[in-house]
Amino acid sequence: MPKILVVEDEAAIARVLVDNLLFEGYEAEAVADGAEGLERALAWQPDLILLDVVLPTMDGYEVCRRLRAQGAATPIIMLTARGEEVDKVLGLELGADDYVTKPVGVRELMARIKAVLRRGELAPATGAVLEFGQARIDFDRYEATVDGQTVHLSPKAFGVLRLLWESKGRALTRAQILEQVWGYEVYPTTRTVDNHIAELRNRLEADPAQPRHILTVHGVGYRFVE
Ligand code: CA
Repeated sequence: MPKILVVEDEAAIARVLVDNLLFEGYEAEAVADGAEGLERALAWQPDLILLDVVLPTMDGYEVCRRLRAQGAATPIIMLTARGEEVDKVLGLELGADDYVTKPVGVRELMARIKAVLRRGELAPATGAVLEFGQARIDFDRYEATVDGQTVHLSPKAFGVLRLLWESKGRALTRAQILEQVWGYEVYPTTRTVDNHIAELRNRLEADPAQPRHILTVHGVGYRFVE
C-alpha cells in the first residue's frame, strides 16, 4: 500500500490528514517541520508527500528543491493556507505535482492523491533512452549526459522532453504540454513550459540560441526532432 508522508506544522490538520489517509488504506505519518520532513522523506522513501508551504526550519519550496536536487522524484502535493501569498509557479517549477488549498476538503484531497499516484504508475520502466546530438537521456533513471558528462535536469524537464519525443515530430501547444506533464490540476502559465524548454535547450543543445532538436513552432508551441 502506498506510503504517504505529511509535512505539516499545524498538529490538528496533520492529525486529520493522517487519520483519513490511514482510513483510506494508505500508510501515513506526519512530521511538523521542514528539515525533519526532508530527512524523513529521504529515509522512509514515501510514494507521495503532502507538503505544507509555510513551515518552521525550512519552507516547503526548499524541501521540494532539496529533494529534487538529491534525485528524489517522489510526487509532491503542496498545501497552502487560503489567503497565503504563495508562488504556485515557483512550486511547479521546483517539481511539485499539485496544489491544494487548506482547509482541505478530504474527498477532494483523496481524489488528487489518487490522480497523482496514478500518473506515476503510468510511467513504468520502459527502457526508454533517447540520443540526439551529443546528448543521451535515460528516462527510467532520470539521467542525462552530454558528451558523457552528467547534466542536471528537473523531473518536469524530463517529462516535457519525453512527451515531445513520443509525439514524433508533431508540434504540441503549451496547453497540451501542461496538461500532459503537469496534469489537469494546474494553474496554466505558458511561462512554466517556456522555462522548461529553455532548461532543456541550455543543458542539451550544442547552441541553445540556435536549437536544432527542441524547436519552436511559431504561433503553436514546440516540437522535437532527433
Ligand atoms: Ca504551516
